[in-house]
Amino acid sequence: MVKGVSSWSKESQLNILQKINALKETNPELYEKSLAKFNEKLKTNIEYTDEMYRAEEERAVRQYNAQHAPHCPTCNSTNVHKISGANKVGAVALFGVFSIGHVGKTFKCDNCGMKW
Ligand SMILES: [Zn+2]
Repeated sequence: MVKGVSSWSKESQLNILQKINALKETNPELYEKSLAKFNEKLKTNIEYTDEMYRAEEERAVRQYNAQHAPHCPTCNSTNVHKISGANKVGAVALFGVFSIGHVGKTFKCDNCGMKW
C-alpha cells in the first residue's frame, strides 16, 4: 500500500518545526502564523524547505516591521532614528524581530526633534 510518497523528510520537518517553536516565547504572533503555514504545508505533503521557510519568515518579519515601524507621535513622520542601542536595529534580522517589542523610548524625530 503506497500512501502519499513524501519527499519531505521527517528530519527536515522537525528542523523547521524547531525554528517555529523557537518563536513561541519571543513572538507568539509570528509563531501562530508560522505554525499555521507549516501545518498547511504538512497537509500538501510537498516539501517545505528551509529556504522556503526562511523566505516566508523574512516576509512576515518585513510585514511586521512595516506595521510596527516607528513614527513620530507628534508629527507622524517616519523620519526618525534611534538615540541609543542603534546596533539593535541591525541585529533585527530573521529571528530578531521580537527585539523591536522591547524598544521603547529611544527615538528622536528628525522632522520636529521630538524624543520619546
Ligand atoms: Zn516629529
